[in-house]
Formats: sequence, C-alpha cells, structure tokens
Amino acid sequence: MPMARTDGDSWDITEGVGQTALGVAMARAEETTTECPLFTDPYAQLFLDAAAERGWKQPPPYMIQRIRSIGGYAASRTKWFDEFFIAAGANGIQQSVILAAGLDARAWRLPWVDGSVVYEIDQPKVLAFKAETFRANDARPAARYVAVPIDLRQDWPKALRDAGFDPSEPTAWAAEGLLPYLPAEAQDLLFDRIHLHSARDSRIAVESFGAGVFDPEYLASRREQMRRLREEAGVSDDDGVPDTQDLWYIEDRTDVAAWLTEHCWDVTSVGSTELMTRYGRSKPGEVDVALPRTAFVEGHLTG
Ligand code: SAM
Repeated sequence: MPMARTDGDSWDITEGVGQTALGVAMARAEETTTECPLFTDPYAQLFLDAAAERGWKQPPPYMIQRIRSIGGYAASRTKWFDEFFIAAGANGIQQSVILAAGLDARAWRLPWVDGSVVYEIDQPKVLAFKAETFRANDARPAARYVAVPIDLRQDWPKALRDAGFDPSEPTAWAAEGLLPYLPAEAQDLLFDRIHLHSARDSRIAVESFGAGVFDPEYLASRREQMRRLREEAGVSDDDGVPDTQDLWYIEDRTDVAAWLTEHCWDVTSVGSTELMTRYGRSKPGEVDVALPRTAFVEGHLTG
C-alpha cells in the first residue's frame, strides 16, 4: 500500500493533502447550487476557479462521481459545524479556533456576534491561497479574522498565542476533516494542547474517526470501490489521482469522545448516518462504502 506521507511534509492547495480542501470546496459548491441547500457557501466556487487558474485540474469524472456520492455526508457535516459555531456564539463564546481550516469560509459567511474573533490554523501555502482568493474577490470576513499559518505537528499553541489568542477566554474549537491526516501520536498531542488552552465553558466540535474507519476490511472495500470506478472509466490504477485514504495515517487512535469525557468535557456524539438522517440526506438502500464511518463529537468543558 503506498505511503504518501512523511513527518515534515508540506503542501500547497493543489498538492497532496492540500487538494483535499479543494475536494471539500467542490462538495460545498455543489450543495450551494442545489434547489434546497442545507447551507450556501458562495466562496467555494471562487476557490475552485482560483485553483483552476493556477493550473489545478478538476478530478476526473469518476472521482467527481465519488465526491457527489458523498455529497449528503459533506453537506450534513458542514451544516453541523455551522450550527456548532452559531450555538457557541449564542452562548457567549467570542473566540473560535478552526484547526486545519482549509477553504472553510465560515469566518466570511456565518452571522458572528459582535466582537467575535476567528483564528484559523493550516499550512502556510493553503492559508496564503485562501487569503489571495478573498483579496482578489474583495471579500470581507464577518468577524475579526486571524490566520495562523503553521503545521499542526509543530508548536501551534505558541503561534496561536503570539497571534493574540487568549487562553483565559472560553473558546470554540473545531476539527473538521482533519484527524486521519495526523499520526495517532500527533492527534493525542493535539487534544492535550487544546485542553491546556481551554478555559472553563469552552466548546469543541470534532469529526471523529474511530476504529470503524480504520478497519482493514472497510478500507479494503473502499479501495476496491475506487478500483472498480477506475475500471468502469477505463483508466489505469496509476492514473495519478490519489485515493484519499493513501494520505491518511492508518493507525490505532485514542477515542475522542472517551478522552474528552475523561478530561471533564460534557460530551454528546452523533454517528454520520444518524446525522444525515437528521438533515434528510440519507439515502435508502445499500450503504455506500465511500461514506466515512465517522461520529460528530461535541464537548463542553464544565469542570
Ligand atoms: N476543515 C476544512 C474544511 O472542512 O473545509 C478542510 C478539510 S481538508 C479535508 C483537510 C485540511 O487539513 C487541509 O486544508 C490540510 O491542509 C489540513 N491539514 C492536514 N494536516 C495538517 C497539518 N499537519 N497541519 C496543518 N493543516 C493540516
């Protein structure tokens, strides 16, 4: 199995892990144009256009078909995180940190309460691309926005504090589409650091990838689906289009909900299928293996 990742690897938006942010933008752009969207993200298409201007080639039709097949998942996930931030603001939290923000446009599109500040952490080139795109389109954030360009395997808490983050204030943290791209050890360190920088009443929202996602049989069935899609499209297995799971660290991981509970966070969790049903986005019949077997975990630090 190809191992595409190394300890200190970095990327631009059109490369490796960076491209996954464009995949999410594709799903958000699609949802935005549906008749009854769960949310609208007018910026998603701008990112795709800007990437295309830089020479990024859209994935081939079979991959677009796969991205579309999990459109209901991607839309439900975006909506869930949107609601998390809106509820955090309504409960008096004015400081938010979006970990691995990619092309998340929430700082621009959500109705933030006055005085809110949004810190975004991601790789420098990813955040530079994002800033350039917003600048070129004269788009202004709806909260005070602070980019913190750093790899999450480095000392990001120092970079965050240096950027003005106040650990004595309650914070709303979000990790969407991040955890499998971090080694298991880096995931543990990430949560240690979040906890250390969370004042009482902080909240957290996490897309959690548990043992079910890294189950070898499940991963093999996802890979087989990709092989079949390529075969049907008449392209070879080495057509250069990465299978997302080749960018993941497939390792046993700490259970996020259990860890947060042990550290005095009040935790609620909803499985991906249940979430999609809640938003009317689950399809009857056979479950598509491309649908990530994740849980959406929300914590509130009360201790
Ligand atoms: N959360 C965003 C969203 O939902 O639109 C982006 C999700 S995208 C699937 C994954 C993002 O994680 C990419 O933007 C990538 O650059 C970022 N990422 C992955 N590993 C990272 C790391 N070690 N340090 C900083 N960013 C990282």
